[in-house]
Amino acid sequence: MASATLQIDLDAVLANWRALDALSGAACETAAVVKADAYGLGATRVARALMRAGVRKFFVALAEEGAALRQGLGEAPEIYVLSGHMAGDTEMIADLDLTPMLNALEQVTRHFEALPGTPFGVQLDTGMNRLGMEAGEWAAVAPIVMGAGPKLLMSHLACADEPEHGANATQLAEFHRLTDGTGVPRSFAATGGIMLGREYTFDLTRPGIGLYGGAPFAAARPVVRLSLPVVQVREVLAGETVGYGCAWRAAEDSRIATVAAGYADGLARALSAKATLFADGTPCPLVGRVSMDLITVDVTQLETVPDTLEILCPEQGVDALAAVAGTIGYEILTSLGARYTRRYAGGAA
Ligand SMILES: *Cc1c(COP(=O)(O)O)cnc(C)c1O
Repeated sequence: MASATLQIDLDAVLANWRALDALSGAACETAAVVKADAYGLGATRVARALMRAGVRKFFVALAEEGAALRQGLGEAPEIYVLSGHMAGDTEMIADLDLTPMLNALEQVTRHFEALPGTPFGVQLDTGMNRLGMEAGEWAAVAPIVMGAGPKLLMSHLACADEPEHGANATQLAEFHRLTDGTGVPRSFAATGGIMLGREYTFDLTRPGIGLYGGAPFAAARPVVRLSLPVVQVREVLAGETVGYGCAWRAAEDSRIATVAAGYADGLARALSAKATLFADGTPCPLVGRVSMDLITVDVTQLETVPDTLEILCPEQGVDALAAVAGTIGYEILTSLGARYTRRYAGGAA
């Protein structure tokens, strides 16, 4: 089998959820963000395990994601859609009992006309200028919207991963100004916001990346392990080159392993000549260019070449690999290839 194996430790996801839940205190509920297929790990499997651990609210980006999740989870959990109620979403929202987070007057109108009396929340912009109603817009519609009984008022922090950034306090003050005294449950913090402390957590938190073992939750347990099969091993003589563009030339006689994963599987081409793979903990450098389905790795120093080399493992987590690629752990996870065989362990709660 040449398909790589992505091992997903659901017990680690549950431990991370419990640790984040403990940080925000007993009065605050902890939801789970499972958009983008739970950051590449498989939304239904991850969410089912989280439900067994007591999670009752999930967030997705799109109504389509919510619809698929509802079919996997059954009727019990609440599923919030961050992009709100878009044209074409009405049937999905109604049939699969999704709760759109309304982001603009246009969405409020659409929701109230198409599905009066059905659940919704409101997303407010407190300074990120990405999603949510602006203060002026909110002031105009708040009397009507509040009369219709929103389930949740939320906003999102732009700089939560930088605790010293002045925008955090500014957004917090704005969120208070827009929502104090409404009596509606409030949600402000994702993973980074939870780390900022209890002033930021309000009634409901929305962690994503922290559940999956990524920064800024420094104490997170790693969740993924990615093992790539060695397809072929060859001796390369000093002076010979390897791969596209003849980009790597052997300085001395070398042994090169050809490994089955490439940029089509989310191993960014920017990792060319930079990444490190591990053979039972021994580092082996990626040499030459990342190609679509394959990479080449210098295994000269190994006594025996194992059947697989690891690129995500205890020696190199998602944030370490992200640093090599010049990106963030979120992008490493959400790029994990569709061709990987996903194997789940744990998750029994
Ligand atoms: C993605 C997202 C989250 C989760 O953020 P993490 O940083 O992964 O914890 C929460 N809320 C909103 C609005 C999001 O877009």
